[in-house]
Amino acid sequence: MPSNIRSVRGFSDTLPPVTATWQVLEARLHRILDGYGYQEIRLPQVEKTELFSRSIGEVTDIVEKEMYTFEDRNGDSLTLRPEGTAGCVRACLEHGLLHNQQPRLWYAGAMFRHERPQKGRLRQFHQIGAEVFGLAGPDIDAEMILMTARMLAAIGLNDVELQLNSLGTPESRQAYRQALVDYLSEFRDQLDADSQRRLQTNPLRILDSKVAETQALLDQAPTLEDYLDQASRDHFAELRERLDAVGQPYVINPRLVRGLDYYGRTVFEWVTHRLGAQGTVCAGGRYDGVVEQLGGRSTPAVGFAMGLERLVALIEENQGLVRADQADVYLVLLGNAAEREGLRLAERLRNDLPGLRLLMHCGGGSFKSQFKRADRSGAQLALVLADQELADGTVGLKNLRESGEQRSHPLDGIAAVLGEHFGITIHSED
Ligand code: ATP
Ligand code: MG
Repeated sequence: MPSNIRSVRGFSDTLPPVTATWQVLEARLHRILDGYGYQEIRLPQVEKTELFSRSIGEVTDIVEKEMYTFEDRNGDSLTLRPEGTAGCVRACLEHGLLHNQQPRLWYAGAMFRHERPQKGRLRQFHQIGAEVFGLAGPDIDAEMILMTARMLAAIGLNDVELQLNSLGTPESRQAYRQALVDYLSEFRDQLDADSQRRLQTNPLRILDSKVAETQALLDQAPTLEDYLDQASRDHFAELRERLDAVGQPYVINPRLVRGLDYYGRTVFEWVTHRLGAQGTVCAGGRYDGVVEQLGGRSTPAVGFAMGLERLVALIEENQGLVRADQADVYLVLLGNAAEREGLRLAERLRNDLPGLRLLMHCGGGSFKSQFKRADRSGAQLALVLADQELADGTVGLKNLRESGEQRSHPLDGIAAVLGEHFGITIHSED
């Protein structure tokens, strides 16, 4: 017998009722983005490989070992997008969105990285991200960070910590990089293998190492702050002042460097301790050099991305955002005539009560089996149509969540009763 085909490792299904959490989560996040004047941009999931190597950086984890890169039938090297920023910059340049404009954009969708799947880490995962172009000052950084705070609060996450750092200009980072290499080279043998390799390729990434021995060595290392240029120092101080002024708490994390090469000046992450090593739910910062790197005119830019799987995991731990039930009302129908009348009734109720979630029983069966399904659907009320009701021109109404008898109501009054129960105003045609 042929074996069943399973999903690909790291590519997961999202099933009901968790999909309802996703919908509410997305709707709330979209509403806040909209409220800050951000507009949605929809981007392809496949780009030319070069786009990512040129923007994210050749010696980053993503480009070195995480990309899904393939040759298509024309022999072009293409890559499933590992993140959204590069494609967003590409699209802005391609369509001239940066000419005398400062677009505020958001995007959402699947991203692909070949990592070791574990809790909060998938190979296909989903992000909502935003980018702003053409604004260099700390004012937009502050507003964007406050927007992310509002987004997290809107989905009930109040125990995530905002971490901030400044990476300075490429020049100041270069000077720091040298100092860090000089310091760490003395302890080369004590570094983990990854960090030893990074000492040559991308030493700043060592700061990010999750290995305890390496972190201990870093305690005495020079810090980036000592190498910041004055303009970046001022920019960072002004950002902090603005956050202080509105009472937004944060902690400065001098080792926060972010995994992508393109960041400079402001970087920030929202971190929780509830997801183990996968604790970052939102990450972002400034990337003033990328537009030029991709062939545009020098344009400042700042953005962030949130990992939706991690947000959903936290929400589910918090008892969820939404009811997991399937319907408000379950329509029980006994017999052929009732089934036909029931369809008419259901359609009328859908006209009269917009938003009512009505699940009509299909497939026949006894009262008992239908009520079992009604109960399982999570509906509060059951409507019942059988011979007696048809003969009387009534419909039975039973509260499935409270004790009490089934009561009968005239057919033409039932919409009003349900509207009252669920707080829905009856929709009138005129
Ligand atoms: P990490 O250090 O956890 O690997 P990262 O620095 O690679 O994160 P970013 O590229 O900044 O992550 O992506 C922004 C957010 O997207 C992360 O903070 C996280 O919430 C989410 N994310 C990144 N990679 C994954 C993944 N493989 N699976 C699920 N979510 C992810
Ligand atoms: Mg990563």
